[in-house]
Amino acid sequence: MSDNKDLYAAILGVRAPWQVMEVDVDVKQELVTVTIASRASTQHACPTCGQPCPGYDVRRRSWRHLDTCQFKTVLIADVPRVQCGEHGVLQILTPWAEPGSGFTSLMECLVIDWLGEANISAVARRMRLTWDEIDGVMQRAVRRGLDRRKLEAIARLGVDETSFQKRHEYVTVVSDLERNRVLYVADERTHESLDGFWALLTPEQLRKIEAVAMDMCAAYVRSTREHLPEADKKICFDRFHVAKLLNDAVNAVRKQENRERAAAGEYVPKHTKYVWAQNPENMPRERRVSFELLRDCALKVGRAWAIKDAARWLWTYSMRGWAERAWKRWIGWALRSRLEPMKKAARTIRAQLWGIVNAIVLHVTNAGAESLNAKIQWIKSQACGFRNRERFKNAIYFHCGGLDLYPAHGSTTHTTS
Ligand SMILES: [Zn+2]
Repeated sequence: MSDNKDLYAAILGVRAPWQVMEVDVDVKQELVTVTIASRASTQHACPTCGQPCPGYDVRRRSWRHLDTCQFKTVLIADVPRVQCGEHGVLQILTPWAEPGSGFTSLMECLVIDWLGEANISAVARRMRLTWDEIDGVMQRAVRRGLDRRKLEAIARLGVDETSFQKRHEYVTVVSDLERNRVLYVADERTHESLDGFWALLTPEQLRKIEAVAMDMCAAYVRSTREHLPEADKKICFDRFHVAKLLNDAVNAVRKQENRERAAAGEYVPKHTKYVWAQNPENMPRERRVSFELLRDCALKVGRAWAIKDAARWLWTYSMRGWAERAWKRWIGWALRSRLEPMKKAARTIRAQLWGIVNAIVLHVTNAGAESLNAKIQWIKSQACGFRNRERFKNAIYFHCGGLDLYPAHGSTTHTTS
């Protein structure tokens, strides 16, 4: 059996003062139990201050490790507790696991890697762990990552809301548009949701922020104005959010018109909602021809679409004065359209034009925010129901936070390919 012990000492990376005492292989249960102990003469240190301390007692602990030859593998050790004059009775640090975890660091690394490829249920099944155990690994990983994270100068921010589970529940997501990472996730989509983020930043960091892209949402604007110096020059209503407003307005025109046509017993075009949300340049040739026919049927929605489409070209300006004049002309056109939803959208844009022009002159693009948003949609689709908001928030940090998630011990022996 001594060969076995040496083998396991090598596999587990067990070093002095720790040694493998016993390896028990239970073929029936497909279970390997490795017992580890530290040499009795060892002087241990306080985990908080690192000072050598007298021993207090030992506690038996166990950790799930990577399977060996498809056998479940468990480490068992009597872990000493020390009595530090300053910090009290504490369990010493072990080289193979982080405090409070029932898994070795290598096992946590493997779970973290797998979670990048598959959803929680699949990883749980494959690694013979429970959903809650995987969730625990994720929570510890995020906590570690957030503790290690440095929020250096952040020049461009994006603020967005995203719904989850039941469609009327929301979280607010703040992202770093330059590094493509989520910085902060808060409950709801209120003024207070965003206040919590500003509170994390130093006055120096606040001063270095150049642009904050957001939806034309009064709560976010108010919070930003309260916390960010010269906010009115930095708040940007970006292209993505303006396009969403206009697409919604076109869709409202379509629905209203369809109702009118149905009431009059006329032909009602079916399944065209997404047709009106596309750009003709992106359509395949055949679809483009039928789109042009549809548009030219002098439907009201065709006119609404033309107004929306014209707004796309207003983002090409770089001078504030020119951009303002062009948008004002467009607003005048939309207001004269006799299409109530388009008029309403135009009035919103007129009131918020300052922020739209900020986005144009500061060249705020939302490409990064869109790719993060796509990732968040993926998280939603992967989680067959986040049982609560905290888990959803945690998953966003885990997958989109750009965090260093690996346990300290594990990462030294852990290689990523
Ligand atoms: Zn201490």
